[in-house]
Amino acid sequence: MSKTTDILETYGKSLMPTYAPSVVLASGKGVTVRDADGLTLYDFTSGIGVHNVGHCHNKVVEAIQQQAAKLTHASNLYANEPATKLAAKLVALSGLGGKVFFCNSGAEANEAAIKLARKWGAANGGRYEVVTMRQGFHGRTLATLAATAQAWCQEGYDPLPVGFAYADFNDLASVKAAVTDKTVAILLEPVQGEGGVTPATEEFMAGVRALCDEKNLLMICDEVQSGMGRTGTWFAWQGYSVQPDLFTLAKSLADGIPMGALVSNAKCADVFTPGSHASTFGGNPVAAAAALAVIEIIEEEGLLARATEVGNLFREALQGFVDQYDQLLEVRGKGLMLGLVVDGDPKEVVEALKAQGLLALTAGGNVVRFLPPLVLKEEDLEEAVDMIADALDCTFGGDAE
Ligand SMILES: *Cc1c(COP(=O)(O)O)cnc(C)c1O
Repeated sequence: MSKTTDILETYGKSLMPTYAPSVVLASGKGVTVRDADGLTLYDFTSGIGVHNVGHCHNKVVEAIQQQAAKLTHASNLYANEPATKLAAKLVALSGLGGKVFFCNSGAEANEAAIKLARKWGAANGGRYEVVTMRQGFHGRTLATLAATAQAWCQEGYDPLPVGFAYADFNDLASVKAAVTDKTVAILLEPVQGEGGVTPATEEFMAGVRALCDEKNLLMICDEVQSGMGRTGTWFAWQGYSVQPDLFTLAKSLADGIPMGALVSNAKCADVFTPGSHASTFGGNPVAAAAALAVIEIIEEEGLLARATEVGNLFREALQGFVDQYDQLLEVRGKGLMLGLVVDGDPKEVVEALKAQGLLALTAGGNVVRFLPPLVLKEEDLEEAVDMIADALDCTFGGDAE
């Protein structure tokens, strides 16, 4: 029996069946991972947008090790230096002049954003409703699930918390129609991830900002997947002409050590007051040390520019496949957050990619999603593109023009 089969057997008996893995990961380095039986695979998922600086970057490993030997937890009764430094750094990178709240996941960061908006709304006209976008994804807690306007993940969980209204992404008229005198905020992903790797248009982002200014609403960007350089800027909203009032981070913030953050502008910096919100592990010093290392690596290795440069090369290669196969409709995304839209089931392509030795994701029901580490080198990209070519040939071969 292979080690993979052995582990998956115990997995099936012991873990609730929320996931159905067929691979067991044992280690990772840079853009590759190794499974339990020693097989090496390209990781074009980055652990679902987590390892923007690659697996086990020496600097991150060192930062974690050093902090783990010093102090692993401080509680929020006491401050700690790594989290304090990280908050100041995030505020500086955002240019919003606000403050940060730390938590442990994307759902928690969005939950904090929703709570902050409600607290602000309570004091500003008794407003509480948050408008979110169809095909969006904001997490699995009850409130963030209610904010996630997708039937497939809400099913079975009624009654969901009230106070959410849905609009169509990239359709300003639809957002305007969803706003009432109870609306307090508009929440959106600048690039929708799970929903299909769809970037917001500049027109839409600017329109939402103008609407928020006109109606005194908070604009909240969910950057849990698109943040930390993934799309070529620190935060995807920086690729547009507007600034949000609040934005959230998690996945790639601390390179796999659980950490979430809510970042505000000056206006929203002091809405939470002592005791009004909290998280035991929020601002954990080991996670914060990892996040500081992540930021240093992105700066030192010029990964923002790389996300754009390598992203463009990858996009060109994917466009070539779209030109070649009738079953491929379009390339979508920004930087190294890319989607290949398939006329059919993307799972078939993802399975074929895995057989070639490349891990990729699906999104939105008809998209193959690629989120490779931003440290991806051109020679690795070339090899990966060859694997994609072979996988597409296996899936659609014979139908090529
Ligand atoms: C993954 C994701 C979340 C949820 O993050 P968790 O850490 O799984 O709670 C929220 N928003 C977006 C955009 C995401 O991609």
